Amino acid sequence: MAFYVQKYGGTSVGSTERIKNVAKKVAKFYAQGHQLVVVVSAMSGETNRLIALAHDIQENPDARELDVMVSTGEQVSIALLAMALMTLNVKAKSYTGSQVRILTDSTHTKARILSIDEARIRADLDAGFVVVVAGFQGVDEKGSITTLGRGGSDTTGVALAAALKADECQIYTDVDGIYTTDPRVVAEARRLNTITFEEMLEMASLGSKVLQLRSVEFAGKYKVKLRVLSSFEEGQGTLITFEEDENMEQAVISGIAFNRDEAKITVLGVPDHPGIAYQILGPVADANIDVDMIIQNVGHDGLTDFSFTVHRNEFKNTINILKEKIQPHIGARDVLGGDRIAKVSVVGVGMRSHAGIASKMFRVLAEEGINIQMIATSEIKISVVVDEKYMELAVRVLHKAFDLEQAL
Ligand code: ADP
Ligand code: ASP
Ligand code: MG
Repeated sequence: MAFYVQKYGGTSVGSTERIKNVAKKVAKFYAQGHQLVVVVSAMSGETNRLIALAHDIQENPDARELDVMVSTGEQVSIALLAMALMTLNVKAKSYTGSQVRILTDSTHTKARILSIDEARIRADLDAGFVVVVAGFQGVDEKGSITTLGRGGSDTTGVALAAALKADECQIYTDVDGIYTTDPRVVAEARRLNTITFEEMLEMASLGSKVLQLRSVEFAGKYKVKLRVLSSFEEGQGTLITFEEDENMEQAVISGIAFNRDEAKITVLGVPDHPGIAYQILGPVADANIDVDMIIQNVGHDGLTDFSFTVHRNEFKNTINILKEKIQPHIGARDVLGGDRIAKVSVVGVGMRSHAGIASKMFRVLAEEGINIQMIATSEIKISVVVDEKYMELAVRVLHKAFDLEQAL
């Protein structure tokens, strides 16, 4: 007998038919004697629909009220799943995040979980119930409903698994595991049996939305055994491992991540003297805007160009700050920007022991005539910024060049 926390995503609960299927799956585990906490997302499309409603009323919806509303998507799914379980003679009970008391900070729309009260869930489990919990939501200490950011039900699942010390956290979704890259973009992408925690962390932070980044961070911090599997087919899925298997032949590159979430900003003709990076990025940081990649060109004639990327949602805001507060102050020539960029990254722990990955990546892109606008590296990843229109091509040619479609 084991104790599982299972999370089913939006597509998996996208219709009442699908909810009945999830209930059948859960009932099968229950019949085998396992204890189960089941986390569900809103039915697919529902969160987007609710956000659009808010925008019909308020141009910039009030974040607290937005959370009150979008959290209803998950509240519908938990009740439907609990009912579906009852029809299969499984004792089930549903709870919202605030009923469990998933306590978060007060950063509405992207709150962080601070603690989870496990007492009620444990009592229900001991009494033989399947406990169904709404993903993506919590409550702050003032009693206001909060949400955890898009894709946040993954984090609810992993956080519950950590708090309740589950044997495994199983993320059921519409693909049968973690692939070398998004299988919707590269048909030849291959499912991985395992991926190291470090690689998964990079993949998630570089844009692979199969797991919310925060959920991977949680799994790392609390050493949660985490597996991604299909809601629709049987299979082992992909296990996130904490140790590199020394005996296993390790691929140099494990996966390719990409995202279109960023925008690039360049400050032209900046005086090339100490403190300039701080003068430009200080006010950006003060406005709570995260900066990702940064490039400062080699100066000539005492002037240089300074480029960086921010999330697309912050693009206009950042340009305004630079034009109003910084450009006149430091005497820069101009501020330019573009949001039609994409970041493509190759990830693999094998890079630590192999040279030449970057040059191979740059050669492959050059052969396709794809211009690299920015580069960033870490020990286990290389990221490039390219024109958005070349993103899919770049992912495909790199996937092929690094032999990712071939099993080891
Ligand atoms: P859910 O609604 O179940 O949370 P998501 O849409 O959030 O599902 O995540 C699953 C999707 O993630 C897949 O449909 C797939 O298109 C995408 N995806 C992106 N990168 C990968 C990857 N490396 N492996 C598998 N799926 C990926
Ligand atoms: N329903 C939320 C979203 O669409 C949370 C989730 O699905 O994980 O982002
Ligand atoms: Mg998701």
